[in-house]
Amino acid sequence: MTSAIPAATYLPDFLAARATERPDAPCWLFDGRTWSWAEADASVHQAAGALRAEGVGAGDRVAILDKNSPAILQVLLGGCLVGAATTVVNWRLAGDELDYVVNDCRAKVLFVGHQLLDQLALVRDRLEHVEKVVVVGGADDELEAWLASATPIDRQDDVTPDDVCVVMYSSGTTGRPKGVQLTQAAMVEHSLNGGGSITYADGDMMLVAMPMFHVGGTSYALLGPVNGVPGYIVSEVDATLMAGGIMAGCTHAFLVPAVVAALVAAGPQAMQLFGRLKAVGYGAAPMPPPVLRAAMAAWPDTSFQQVYGMTEFGGVITLLEDAAHRDAEHPERLTSAGRPVWHAEMRIVDPITLQDVPAGASGEIWFRTPQATIGYIGRPDDTAALITDDGWVRTGDLGRVDDGGFLFIEDRLKDMIITGGENVYSPEVERVLAEHPAVAEIAIIGVPDDRWGETVKAVVAFRPGLSATSDELIAFARQRLAGYKVPTSIDVVEALPRNPSGKVLKRDLRKPYWGDAAR
Ligand code: ATP
Ligand code: MG
Repeated sequence: MTSAIPAATYLPDFLAARATERPDAPCWLFDGRTWSWAEADASVHQAAGALRAEGVGAGDRVAILDKNSPAILQVLLGGCLVGAATTVVNWRLAGDELDYVVNDCRAKVLFVGHQLLDQLALVRDRLEHVEKVVVVGGADDELEAWLASATPIDRQDDVTPDDVCVVMYSSGTTGRPKGVQLTQAAMVEHSLNGGGSITYADGDMMLVAMPMFHVGGTSYALLGPVNGVPGYIVSEVDATLMAGGIMAGCTHAFLVPAVVAALVAAGPQAMQLFGRLKAVGYGAAPMPPPVLRAAMAAWPDTSFQQVYGMTEFGGVITLLEDAAHRDAEHPERLTSAGRPVWHAEMRIVDPITLQDVPAGASGEIWFRTPQATIGYIGRPDDTAALITDDGWVRTGDLGRVDDGGFLFIEDRLKDMIITGGENVYSPEVERVLAEHPAVAEIAIIGVPDDRWGETVKAVVAFRPGLSATSDELIAFARQRLAGYKVPTSIDVVEALPRNPSGKVLKRDLRKPYWGDAAR
């Protein structure tokens, strides 16, 4: 078994502890290169020295615009040693979205992946605070020389656990991404609490594939040093790169439902390969039950763990353990998001009265946890709306809790449909229609209706070679749902619009019907 988790107050201390314990064992594997724990730790101290030499210190921010690579972790952990926060910028953002994020976090130094230089060139003269650009990777690599030029340093005296160490941007599902400030203390809490029920053995390796510009990717990568497990980092979610990781011996992975669905759709051969994984975590968006059942059937030796999380908590806040996936007495818990992680208190609150709802009733999900953000950068009004005076964070998600304490996420507050005074939770309808054999992808939205205020619309993409009429789909739903929940109209699309973490962009689907009033 791997050895005990180090007691650390600062994120880089986990890495340092592992470097002492097993200096020569592999820590990061990326693009054919391996960093031992000692090399990884040394590079983080070099990054800290190089940042200080650039004048970056406590309270400053740097940004990295790159696909997944160890450079992100070197900069982030190096920043922790000098008290600076790192933003990992979504490389899929275009034009003004890109300069919005880099300006919003006021990055002084920008690291940029060599394959993204053209993208940077389009916005470079609009970046207001960037004093220095460092190219990462490729023939023009500057990072190695930049690291080597500096005298390595230890944690600076003015650094405290309450310093912000990352400014992570939320996914932007409901509006412009918000810069979520997370302290080292919060990220350490997340690393210790969010690892959950997964255990590791010697020889295990984590596949780090989900993008690190989302909190899920970064915080999963940080679980490696905490648990002493090497990370096989792939630059992006790409079937060939990920298969390479499995063949190299990866045993653990975090995958979003859209990626699991793509593997299921890719057929038995791909499925068989990924069945070598000992543990799969999934989450960030609702998991369609047929996809989960197919994965569980095809990977009989794999343990599954669902996580429900938010950028505002540094990642995971509830988790559904493998055993609960297979609890014959509670088959309905397959669609639950599980129970809160350590140190997290949960409440279900009426969003209007702000009082707790009766046991088992639906309401807004609130948490109080040391993992919580201190607030959004530069958005005091949004921060005030997020965190109550006594420290509860309003998730904006609706849910209910069963008598075993298992959370069922019902919908985002903003996605819930109110039709003729009845609440319709879109994932409930989506789960039903996902069972129709012709349906590949499904999203339920509310559209304006003269009589009911709003009415339920389904947007579907069919499986290749299959289809169904609107009447057939509506009849299928009517057999399984209360009348007011049944879609009254169906739109057919090739594929649903999704962001890189696989979340459906419902506001894009609603726009043609609501115009600028779309939520
Ligand atoms: P923004 O806040 O910018 O609109 P976002 O909320 O999608 O975007 P994230 O912080 O990446 O940004 O995602 C958190 C949200 O993702 C949660 O509030 C919840 O709605 C959804 N989510 C996360 N995990 C799950 C899960 N296991 N099941 C269902 N929904 C989930
Ligand atoms: Mg959000």
